[in-house]
Amino acid sequence: MHQHPVVVIGAGPVGLAAAAHAHARHLETIVLEAGSSAGSAVRGWGHVRLFSPWSELVDPAAVELLHANGWLAPDPATYPTGADWASVYLEPLAETLSQQDGIQIAYGHRVTGVARSGRDVMVGAEREAEPFVVHAQTAAGPVRLLAGAVIDASGTWGRPNPLGTEGYPAAGETEHADRIAYGIPDLADPVVRERYAGRHVVVAGTGASAQSTLVSLGGLAVDHPGTRVTWLVRRAGASFGGGDNDQLVERGALGRRAQEVVESALVTRRTTFRTVAVRAQESGRLAVEALDGQRVEDVDEVVVATGFRPDLTYLSEVRLDLDPALQAPRRLAPLIDPNVHSCGTVYPHGVRELAQPEVGLYLAGMKSYGRAPSFLALTGFEQVRSIVAAIAGDTAAAERVELVLPETGVCGGAGVFDEPAAEAGGGCCGPTGAQLVELSPTAAR
Ligand SMILES: Cc1cc2nc3c(=O)[nH]c(=O)nc-3n(C[C@H](O)[C@H](O)[C@H](O)COP(=O)(O)OP(=O)(O)OC[C@H]3O[C@@H](n4cnc5c(N)ncnc54)[C@H](O)[C@@H]3O)c2cc1C
Repeated sequence: MHQHPVVVIGAGPVGLAAAAHAHARHLETIVLEAGSSAGSAVRGWGHVRLFSPWSELVDPAAVELLHANGWLAPDPATYPTGADWASVYLEPLAETLSQQDGIQIAYGHRVTGVARSGRDVMVGAEREAEPFVVHAQTAAGPVRLLAGAVIDASGTWGRPNPLGTEGYPAAGETEHADRIAYGIPDLADPVVRERYAGRHVVVAGTGASAQSTLVSLGGLAVDHPGTRVTWLVRRAGASFGGGDNDQLVERGALGRRAQEVVESALVTRRTTFRTVAVRAQESGRLAVEALDGQRVEDVDEVVVATGFRPDLTYLSEVRLDLDPALQAPRRLAPLIDPNVHSCGTVYPHGVRELAQPEVGLYLAGMKSYGRAPSFLALTGFEQVRSIVAAIAGDTAAAERVELVLPETGVCGGAGVFDEPAAEAGGGCCGPTGAQLVELSPTAAR
């Protein structure tokens, strides 16, 4: 397969890290990116400050390459925004990679299909002897590339979960799309600020995106006292993370700030709220309805922050083995499942957990976590180090996993809603839970 390049899908932090590792191992590589620049998805939430410092947001192989090209590294202890991550690291990295022999980054290439040459998913004969064919859509029309291996690092940002509790849009969700936003609105943008100022805003979801939205709406309400928020929580309670016990200090702080806003007069909390409909009232405002008959009336705007899902549509002709609940590689799923995961049970993972029945195809980065909410960039860098080592035939390096992760606190994530979640200070980041999880002996790479 080495006569064909490695194709990486997505020029995000993990896709570019894969290319940097491939370069270090002299593997010819083509990165296909749907957007017009590196870090297109990260730019989509560019106004959000990360809870990881710079030291946890750069890949070692990428840094080595950047340094060789005169890159000035940011202060490792500071916290960038998404826009900083893209402009200070991802874009220079993409530019540096593009200058290397054997590495190509093609923007405006949206992957629409991955298959084995001449074979659909059913045909087994001599499957592994054939290269992959990657289909992509470009402004100039469709293209078709042969690949020796495929690393799908396309993330999940482009596929937010809908408001509807069953995973499909709620009744009226599409019809009222002009008043429903997904993700984290940028309230520093005057146009967006105007949209929410003085309004009744419903926020759905409990993760970091929902918490960020609650905090920024709290700030908006200081300048525009008419602003009010109804917070919809699918579970019987809501967790604000580990607070002071979270090893990710800024994530703990975000949880604390969100809790303060939720406990203020600004926010009304509705629990066990499993949304089934958004309807127009006679006044023209919206009413949001839940399965159990709860109803929130006189709503002006809805912000949906209910997580993301991977795009599996273009992988229908390759053989995948995914966990049926999380849509993550089956061997990885138990390590990250918010339904069962508890503190200290994060295990090393690399090619062994990520390999698919379709030999030479790997899901990496945010996409490899499927619908689980707890992905960290550091984990993705380790994944692609291991995957690229396997592609290069260096089995020992592929199987060696060395990573120390901060407590990731995934308990009480998106999948759990029947148990009341612990409030801040409890849960898996609680006083006895926070600890560094050492995943393997820290042997030198
Ligand atoms: C708001 C927010 C805050 C976060 N904060 C942190 C943090 O503080 N610390 C941390 O460690 N992690 C954080 N994360 C999680 C994670 O590290 C980031 O989401 C990171 O961007 C994931 O990198 P990725 O390369 O896997 O995917 P992405 O960054 O999503 O990149 C995927 C790329 O693939 C492209 N693409 C998508 N589909 C296709 C296709 N069909 N064909 C070609 N290209 C395609 C996209 O345009 C994009 O450029 C955060 C995530 C979010 C959403």
